[in-house]
Amino acid sequence: MTASAEQARVDELLLALSLDEKLSLCAGQSLWKTKAVQRLGISQFRLTDGPRGVGFHSSGKRCTAFPSGIAQAASWDVELMARFGEALGQECRAVGGRTILGPAINITRTPLNGRTFEYLSEDPYLNSRLVVPVVKGAQKQGVAACVKHFAANNQETNRVRVSAEVSERALQEIYLPAFRAAVEEADAWSIMAAYNSVNGVPSCENADLLKTKLRQQWGFKGFVVTDWFAARGTSSTAACVKGGLSLDMPGKGSRYRFKKLKASFDRGEFTESELDDNLRGLLYAMVVTGHLDPAPQRGLRNTKEHQALAREMAEASITLLKNAGQLLPLDPVRTRKVAAVGPKLKKRNCLPLWGGSAGVWPPYELTPWQGLRQENRGRFEWVSEPADADAVLLFVGLSHRPGQDSEVKDRKQLELVAEQEQLIRETVAVNPNTIVVLINGSPIAMPWLDDVPAILECWYPGMEGGAAIARTLFGDNNPSGKLPVTFPRSLRDCSAHRTPRTFPGDRQTVVYEEELMVGYRHFDKYGIQPLFPFGHGLSYTSFVYSDLTTSAVRLSPTDTLTLTLTVSNAGGVSGAEVVQLYVADHVPGDDRPPQSLKGFAKVLLAPGESRQVTMQLQMSALLVFCPDSNAWRAKPGAYSVRVGSSSRDIRLEAGFELAAIE
Ligand code: BGC
Repeated sequence: MTASAEQARVDELLLALSLDEKLSLCAGQSLWKTKAVQRLGISQFRLTDGPRGVGFHSSGKRCTAFPSGIAQAASWDVELMARFGEALGQECRAVGGRTILGPAINITRTPLNGRTFEYLSEDPYLNSRLVVPVVKGAQKQGVAACVKHFAANNQETNRVRVSAEVSERALQEIYLPAFRAAVEEADAWSIMAAYNSVNGVPSCENADLLKTKLRQQWGFKGFVVTDWFAARGTSSTAACVKGGLSLDMPGKGSRYRFKKLKASFDRGEFTESELDDNLRGLLYAMVVTGHLDPAPQRGLRNTKEHQALAREMAEASITLLKNAGQLLPLDPVRTRKVAAVGPKLKKRNCLPLWGGSAGVWPPYELTPWQGLRQENRGRFEWVSEPADADAVLLFVGLSHRPGQDSEVKDRKQLELVAEQEQLIRETVAVNPNTIVVLINGSPIAMPWLDDVPAILECWYPGMEGGAAIARTLFGDNNPSGKLPVTFPRSLRDCSAHRTPRTFPGDRQTVVYEEELMVGYRHFDKYGIQPLFPFGHGLSYTSFVYSDLTTSAVRLSPTDTLTLTLTVSNAGGVSGAEVVQLYVADHVPGDDRPPQSLKGFAKVLLAPGESRQVTMQLQMSALLVFCPDSNAWRAKPGAYSVRVGSSSRDIRLEAGFELAAIE
């Protein structure tokens, strides 16, 4: 169907529906379904969680558990995200879903956010590049991607009452770009309005967000659904309609309960045309997903291909943080006896509602211990005592319990629990060849860092995680993950943790005083040394960067700068490098970050291989949002392109001048 034919179908439906039928479509019938309109052949439209696979709680079915959001982002792999989106769409379809409640893309403002594991990154550019392929992939399967949580839902503390007090500039430059990209570039068919308020207005009735920005400025055609029960925090039924809310879920006791909505309409608090404006998006999603077709497309779940993809994603996300003395990969000649220990060794992380709504219950999950035994193939001998081993694999981290990496509550501390820190110290004391293997979904402080020679960050790697971890430790997979968030040394160093006002706030407000200085922008601005910088991740090989050339030295705001450089694999094994492009403003001004990510490319290289990498930098990507004029403007002046292996490991640099528009 062409775009105009789809809109014509929506118009026909709007004409055919009676007022009561329209009102009935605005709220859920049950937890995961809308109401049907039998007379017009509109059956219940089903929505399922969530961002790392289809949730058992919303489908009643076991489905493929992929790595969690932060792990996906650590891959920095756009092509992999596209395949993930397709698989997610197929799995949603297979359980009868027409909307997948994901991807979840709120910015990592504080490492303590309980949902950091579920989200992607602290950086708006990386966030944008990764969300677009997921949305496109899922929607290709006839499933609406519901991008969430719109907007500034950056903490779980008081999440339903708190208002994020955030400037227009920080919204535009940090918190909204990935939502905007999901709509403008991927044509997302759905958006979930958040629990929290933004500048005092509940997200579910926030006309500035839902109407002005989403529909008028970005051209959103789909439907806005509440986060579950979020309408309870709104001021009135009419405010939600006038604010641009399409669907109130799950519907019980909601603002859009038929009687309430009808009474509000009868009181003349909103017009039928305002109702139509909101409903149009839901009908549009029904049309484009094929929900109204006589024989809707069927999906696939738990296929061998999806399980293989889950493993590939896990392998691409594993991030080697430290590797002194090349202790990894384990070498069977040097290291015969291995002790595998620690509280995360035999633990599963994929269980229904484990971590909240992102929980997925797969048909099986390989724990690290199962993975180690499966992938060993006789290379290593397992011993139980660290003192008897040539090397120790110590599995520690967090879990999806409230107060750690979990919805509803934020983390209490940046450190691992005291028992785990003590275990690390005791183990290193008896065996200095101790490799700390981390299973967690948010940054942790490491006061024990200097005592430990090697650290492998494995995130929550999904149902095939055990195999991916083992293959990485044994050298069958060369780690290529890069941190999508900064790992701070302590909370004191984080911009959101300067005062209780900035986090967690009082019950009513949390003040985003740090403005644009979120994540590495803050660390760079104030010269703070992070524990591990944004973009950091080592490899079992090494990469050499050379021969940076740029296509121009003076450009206008409508030009594009082309960069070419050569990346070579100087080691003995093949490996992938994420080449990162940062743009540094030579005169940043007090309120602007010194550098920002503006490009990246993941390049796979055989030993000894060199590859020319070309990157395009549009000068429009350097526009800054001016609070005075409330508009995006070019900032003329001197800039550098900085190309490197992390935000703090810049290998090549070149300058250019951005001219003012004549
Ligand atoms: C979460 C959403 C989720 C919804 C449905 C809420 O608690 O915030 O992300 O999609 O529940 O499970």
